[in-house]
Amino acid sequence: MTDAPSPASGAPLRLFNSLTRTLEEFRPVHAQEARVYSCGPTVYNYPHIGNMRAYVFADTLGRTLSFKGYRLTHVINITDVGHLTDDADAGEDKLEKAAAEKAQSIWDIARHYTEAYWADVKALNIRGPMKAGKPEAAHWSIATDYVPQMIEFAKAIADKHCYELDSGLYFDTSTVADYGRLARHATDEGESRIDPVEGKRHPADFAIWRKTPPGETRQMEWDSPWGRGAPGWHLECSVMSEALLGFPFDIHTGGIDHREIHHPNEIAQNQAHSCSADSGARIWMHNNFLVERSGKMSKSAGEFLRLQLLIDKGYHPLAYRLMCLQAHYRSELEFSWEGLGAALTRLKRMVMGIEKLRSATGGEVSPTTLTQAKVIQGSFDEAVSDDLSIPKALPLMEQVIEAKRLPASLRLHLVDEMDKVLGLELLSLKRTDLRIRPKTATITEAEIEAILARRKEARAAKDFPASDALRDELIAAGVEVMDGDPLGWDWRLEP
Ligand code: AMP
Ligand code: ZN
Repeated sequence: MTDAPSPASGAPLRLFNSLTRTLEEFRPVHAQEARVYSCGPTVYNYPHIGNMRAYVFADTLGRTLSFKGYRLTHVINITDVGHLTDDADAGEDKLEKAAAEKAQSIWDIARHYTEAYWADVKALNIRGPMKAGKPEAAHWSIATDYVPQMIEFAKAIADKHCYELDSGLYFDTSTVADYGRLARHATDEGESRIDPVEGKRHPADFAIWRKTPPGETRQMEWDSPWGRGAPGWHLECSVMSEALLGFPFDIHTGGIDHREIHHPNEIAQNQAHSCSADSGARIWMHNNFLVERSGKMSKSAGEFLRLQLLIDKGYHPLAYRLMCLQAHYRSELEFSWEGLGAALTRLKRMVMGIEKLRSATGGEVSPTTLTQAKVIQGSFDEAVSDDLSIPKALPLMEQVIEAKRLPASLRLHLVDEMDKVLGLELLSLKRTDLRIRPKTATITEAEIEAILARRKEARAAKDFPASDALRDELIAAGVEVMDGDPLGWDWRLEP
């Protein structure tokens, strides 16, 4: 019972496939293996917390596959070329634009934001040890490392599936079966798609290669049979997923917006390249959006919601991970500071419960307790296997922490096993790590503790005016004193 269930013995893993819009049992292409590709960030700006929801989801999927006993290969790409400001082939390259605005080299921009993304990945415990400064969950593939392969891929499909215009090489979407099936486009004009490129045969046709306009130079450009220029954005994912995972691979993930344009275009390219109707991946999975009312999710609106803002306001980043886990990945999740605070409190309760378990003694592991533990473990396995129903799995983990009939050592072991899927670091987080510590606070924790110690002495000596004065001193410094708080906060710095 200590081992993760093997794929043969655990509950069958069922995942929602966006291609068929049904739950399907996961059957790996290669026995005992799972190969996953997740569309990664475009590194022209900091990721917002909505983007990070997509990677918490991809990480939860990866963790679940490992928990179920599959050997996981997970690729996440870093888009440092080709993504235009408009998904319909209009506008400028996002990275070229950021580099021009900031008067910096495009390579410096890409490196800076890739590292910022990895910092968020690490803070959210998205899996993998740091190796050479980057997290290794997953294999991170950088688009500009694959340009020669992209050109080869484009050459292979150009004759049968593409046509050339002055602005570049375009994919003719009418040359593949069922274009847009993933998006459920009724026709290729079904979407309110704009057609900003002159000469395109169908509105949905998209760039495979974008030529640098005459008289201009781009910071990132390469020679190709269609002139000097840069690859279209969709090409990189087809090329890197095939190169690193082989077609067909098991699961392709991304945010729900990718179900409309980016992934149908990847599928069209994959079909063209493999000369078949095969979409390249068996299962396509999409996380729903994190939404926020005030528009702070927009990267163009000054201060936007990035993970560092939550940290600066004093919230532990794993409270945000828990906030994501509390909603099913296919449901929209509304962000609010109150919601984040509630997730933090829930995490704190878990951590305090575990601290108590550590100091508990006694209780023998017996056949009866093992049977009871197996029942809870089985329910946990069923929940995560049911299309990653983490909102149902979380209370089972909380039930284990509180299950007085089970010996503490067994409960700690079960929590450890379950946390391999949840990724909340439950056995290493401390209650004090979860204190709200806003960046703007000038008072240090040592100073707060010293004032509280003096206040305790004053109260013991029944010197209430002195005790009140010390409390006022703390309030003036933004510290809320929480005597006797059932959650053991002791005190809290106002966020
Ligand atoms: P981008 O860097 O814009 O390519 O986006 C990175 C990932 O975040 C993609 O998988 C998007 O689909 C996803 N994404 C974008 N906005 C949100 C959001 N508000 N909530 C959840 N996922 C998002
Ligand atoms: Zn992609």
